[in-house]
Amino acid sequence: MNDDQLLRYSRHILLPEIGVEGQEAILAARVLVIGAGGLGSPAAMYLAAAGVGTLVLADGDTVDLTNLQRQILHSADGVGRLKVESGRDTLHRLNPLAHVELRATRLEGQALEDEVAAADVVLDCCDNFATRHAVNRACVKFRKPLVSGAGIRFDGQVSVFDLRKDDSACYHCLFPEGEDLEEVRCAVMGVFAPLVGIIGATQAAEALKLIVGCGTSLDGRLLLLDGLEMEWRSVSLGRDPGCPVCGSR
Ligand SMILES: [Zn+2]
Repeated sequence: MNDDQLLRYSRHILLPEIGVEGQEAILAARVLVIGAGGLGSPAAMYLAAAGVGTLVLADGDTVDLTNLQRQILHSADGVGRLKVESGRDTLHRLNPLAHVELRATRLEGQALEDEVAAADVVLDCCDNFATRHAVNRACVKFRKPLVSGAGIRFDGQVSVFDLRKDDSACYHCLFPEGEDLEEVRCAVMGVFAPLVGIIGATQAAEALKLIVGCGTSLDGRLLLLDGLEMEWRSVSLGRDPGCPVCGSR
């Protein structure tokens, strides 16, 4: 690290759990953030500010006026622009040292696999089950830790599937595909602005802990937030031995 980096990241370096070594790991990390919306905004902002070496931001959407109530990566002058481009500008203002790569598309197929394979940690900040399951399958295949978040109305959830480990559950163990979980969208149901901030920031925290290797991750636990009562619940997650996605691992 040069002098500028030592100063910029000094409050991390002061933490014995992170230190110079942990900050070097953050600077060397490549993190894939899928979705530059309500969850991806705070997640990417904290990761960029904290010095993550390479942030890959993937989203095919453009900024809409209705996004601005909670998607704090974007501002009024960004309406109509690609979210990844608007996001990159915000991240560069936060940390000019941040290296941000843009994927202006909904990642799928080979492109998704390539990005997951290249990443150290994957953050699922998307808003639909099809992408969630595709991201999970790629993370199982390449044994990458997946930090999963979701939020709608006043309800949020966040977990880690540390697929580097043999005994970890995957997203499919928890939410089997095809169980017709009703897709609830912000556009229809509404979403409390800071809810996605709380969940997205928690995803950033878990990603940084995984990179540094400090503390205890949310692997094996699902945190559920009731934002109206402001109560968290922690549910233990087990691996489903019959899971068609991770069962043969
Ligand atoms: Zn599974």
